[in-house]
Amino acid sequence: MKVTGMLVRNKIKRNHRFGTHGNASYLCTMQILDGKKAAQAIKDDLKIDVAQMVIEGKKAPHLVAILVGNNGASETYVASKVKACEEVGFKSTLIRFEETVYKIRLLEEIEKLNNDPDVDGILVQLPLPKHISNEDVINAIHPDKDVDGFHPVNAGKMMQGLPAFVPATPFGIMLLLKHYKIETNGKHAVVIGRSNIVGRPVSILLSSNSNPGNCTVTICHSHTQNLKEICFEADIIVAALGKPETVTADMVKDGAVVIDVGITRVPDATKKSGFRLKGDVHYEMVAPKCSWITPVPGGVGPMTIAALLKNTFYSCTTKN
Ligand code: NAD
Repeated sequence: MKVTGMLVRNKIKRNHRFGTHGNASYLCTMQILDGKKAAQAIKDDLKIDVAQMVIEGKKAPHLVAILVGNNGASETYVASKVKACEEVGFKSTLIRFEETVYKIRLLEEIEKLNNDPDVDGILVQLPLPKHISNEDVINAIHPDKDVDGFHPVNAGKMMQGLPAFVPATPFGIMLLLKHYKIETNGKHAVVIGRSNIVGRPVSILLSSNSNPGNCTVTICHSHTQNLKEICFEADIIVAALGKPETVTADMVKDGAVVIDVGITRVPDATKKSGFRLKGDVHYEMVAPKCSWITPVPGGVGPMTIAALLKNTFYSCTTKN
């Protein structure tokens, strides 16, 4: 598409930020990696596919979410997942347990769902209460229904580049990069955080021989020294450490792509909820230096849900 000079100028006017770093001044065009928009595009496609399945007399995908206790953030996440299922025409079931539930009761329920042919995906919202091991519960989910991609069988397959359920947040990040056609080939990606849920899997995906992928990846964690210097070398930063506003402007080189995974609730008396969400990146400081950046909220969060839906759809269509 040919873009007129006027349009280009308008775009520059909207997005350009000026600043200085050391002795150098910089000018870069920042654009938003809009997770809401990208997720909506995925949901729109899924909606059409599900409607087609139903017309053909096939059953719609069915996701079962298990929620233990009443942690506020977990309630919100599960409610968003259930709502997203409804939006695209999936069946969803929410099973709730008291905070005090015995592990054996949870495992019995998972076994029942494993054996139920109507169920395509099972997710257990983490964290679980202290008396229940996350690992025992995740390992009880059949790998073919493990749409969160946390089971060691899926983690191992992903490591080897075999078809697998990829954890929803890393998968969502890759889908976001793909949606905005971000060039990753040969780039240096710095991932901050090494959890099994985000940091470690995203580092594997970014270094895979794929598109997006083919990055040279550095993984940083709580014992990393010189985090600032390492980040400053990055073409792409994925911040997943859970510490608000850790990534500041002096850690980011001009034109970098910044993916902020962090979501922390910080008290805010001006909000009805009493809190607001903060990312791991100091958005106001960092955004002007970036070529692309995700907002919080509205960046990685919606993509995580879209990726979960895609995994559930995949489970349903490969089984039936
Ligand atoms: P986690 O606590 O399991 O892992 C945090 C990682 O950060 C650890 O590997 C730790 O070594 C590293 N780390 C901690 N402090 C550090 C420091 N100062 N420097 C470098 N590394 C440091 O957390 P997680 O489950 O991976 O989640 C990370 C963040 O992402 C949290 O804010 C979480 O809420 C958010 N999250 C968001 C989504 C989403 O959908 N947007 C999904 C999952 C997690």
